[in-house]
Amino acid sequence: LTSRLPNVGTTIFTVMSALAAETGAVNLGQGFPDFDCDPALVDAVTQAMRAGHNQYPPMPGVPALRQAVAAKMQALYGLACDPNSEITVTAGATQAILTAVLAVVHPGDEVIVLEPCYDSYVPNIELAGGVAVRVPLTPGSFRPDFDAIAAALSPRTRALMINSPHNPSGMVWSAADMQRLQDLLAPTDVLLISDEVYEHMVFDGQQHQSAARFPGLAARAFIVSSFGKTYHVTGWKVGTVVAPAPLTAEFRKVHQFNVFTVNTPMQHALAAYMADPAPYLELPAFYQRKRDLFRQGLASTRLRLLPGEGTYFQCVDISALAVPERDLPEAAFCQWLTREIGVAAIPLSAFYGNGFDQKVIRFCFAKKDDTLREALQRLARL
Ligand code: PMP
Ligand code: GLN
Repeated sequence: LTSRLPNVGTTIFTVMSALAAETGAVNLGQGFPDFDCDPALVDAVTQAMRAGHNQYPPMPGVPALRQAVAAKMQALYGLACDPNSEITVTAGATQAILTAVLAVVHPGDEVIVLEPCYDSYVPNIELAGGVAVRVPLTPGSFRPDFDAIAAALSPRTRALMINSPHNPSGMVWSAADMQRLQDLLAPTDVLLISDEVYEHMVFDGQQHQSAARFPGLAARAFIVSSFGKTYHVTGWKVGTVVAPAPLTAEFRKVHQFNVFTVNTPMQHALAAYMADPAPYLELPAFYQRKRDLFRQGLASTRLRLLPGEGTYFQCVDISALAVPERDLPEAAFCQWLTREIGVAAIPLSAFYGNGFDQKVIRFCFAKKDDTLREALQRLARL
């Protein structure tokens, strides 16, 4: 059998979570909370099930949920979108991104990704027969390099994929960045896949600059969100894609033969829960406090903190550590850290096609304060 994805193995997130479980390490690797969601959200699922919402929903998603998402897009980002023709409920952001790529990328089309990038993007492009064009984010700051993006645009460019707040760096695009992207794409017909799964995790008073805020971007964009991140339910795998009607029509052609629909009771529960904006409006403060607790703890170690403007990830540079293992490749260092220090982390090299090693690793701080304190105590040995 000739593999469709010859360069793909098991994801680093699965590998590191398994190693953490095997060794009893504190798992700050894979991104997920170790605390539970609001019990009211669980009650809403039970209620939906008892109310008989247990059969297929409409293919694009439960209408009440699409309406709630439309209301949020309007309230937060000023985008008027039609829940009937411009919003689709997906099985998480992962399916949303793959489906968007399959819907628009023809064999031989180029799709620009900004590295480091989430590990599913490039395999998604390759499954569609597209060619991933990897453009580095600015080394060190992880900010977009617009000259490099401009240089990568070609007549064969079908789409550009962006991700702010950014996994793994925690970098957040400014309004000026988005404006610049809008200007850059204006003379082209390049589509945008905007992965905004961390939209509600932006700190220090900054605002999330959704593509929805920029008409020239929104008109060409698939805007991807995930309830898993926002409501502490990564295992539910429910997300949404907002896109102009012609793009949504193509998206749904693939979606209907990919998953057809997404589980019904969760959609009803999320629709009811979204009536109150407080949970997502309070999320920045909730995670900023955890970020600060974690950063303060790390400040007294030899791990060098990189900026963390958004997401629930914190990156650190390991090159000033006193231990000889600091010279190992990042992936081997993370294995050592998990086994010997008892804290699992993710090597940044996993987010690069060529395994670029810059001695930076990623921790997830979506954890109980006690978990973070335990991890900090262990990391203090470094
Ligand atoms: N994009 C990014 C940048 C992510 O970090 C994640 C989650 N790890 C996803 C997409 C996938 O989200 P979901 O769990 O909703 O499929
Ligand atoms: N997005 C999560 C992360 O970056 C992991 C999701 C997964 O395991 N695929 O850690």
